[in-house]
Amino acid sequence: MREVNKRQGGGSPCAACKLLRRRCAEDCVFAPYFPADQPHKFASVHKVFGASNVNKLLQELPAHHRSDAVSSMVYEANARVRDPVYGCVGAISSLQQQVDALQTQLAIAQAEMLHIRMSHAAYLARLGLTPVMSGSGGSSSGTSSPKLMEMNEKPAYGLEMVVDQSNLDEPLWPC
Ligand SMILES: [Zn+2]
Repeated sequence: MREVNKRQGGGSPCAACKLLRRRCAEDCVFAPYFPADQPHKFASVHKVFGASNVNKLLQELPAHHRSDAVSSMVYEANARVRDPVYGCVGAISSLQQQVDALQTQLAIAQAEMLHIRMSHAAYLARLGLTPVMSGSGGSSSGTSSPKLMEMNEKPAYGLEMVVDQSNLDEPLWPC
């Protein structure tokens, strides 16, 4: 009897039970995460991971983690369906290549900045003036106080830490 154990409005089973052609029980583990109006979510997860694996994984997780687990599985499954060879690793790899390219650009920009500063200092020295390092750090001129110079320097070091190569060996997110 289909009328028994209905969870969704209108008495339809959840998307998982509908696809698996089984009765959607009151305590169906899929029902909170795979509503009947989003059948594609379960379809791709089922195709990639298999319903019984998804079921097992959800059962093993505490309830407050299940929603995030379903979101990540749907993301991974969709990526795998789109790109059967690399799946979401393709996206990670592409992002890591972007990070590498940006790191190279940053290193070049920092080297150019250093070169400009040194040229500027040498030029001022030839004129017999004291070099004003902070003036070359940004568009603002005449900022000669050491404190301002320090503030100009900090973002560069911060960025270096953010794009630290050693962090890139770790996966960007658990995948
Ligand atoms: Zn169900």
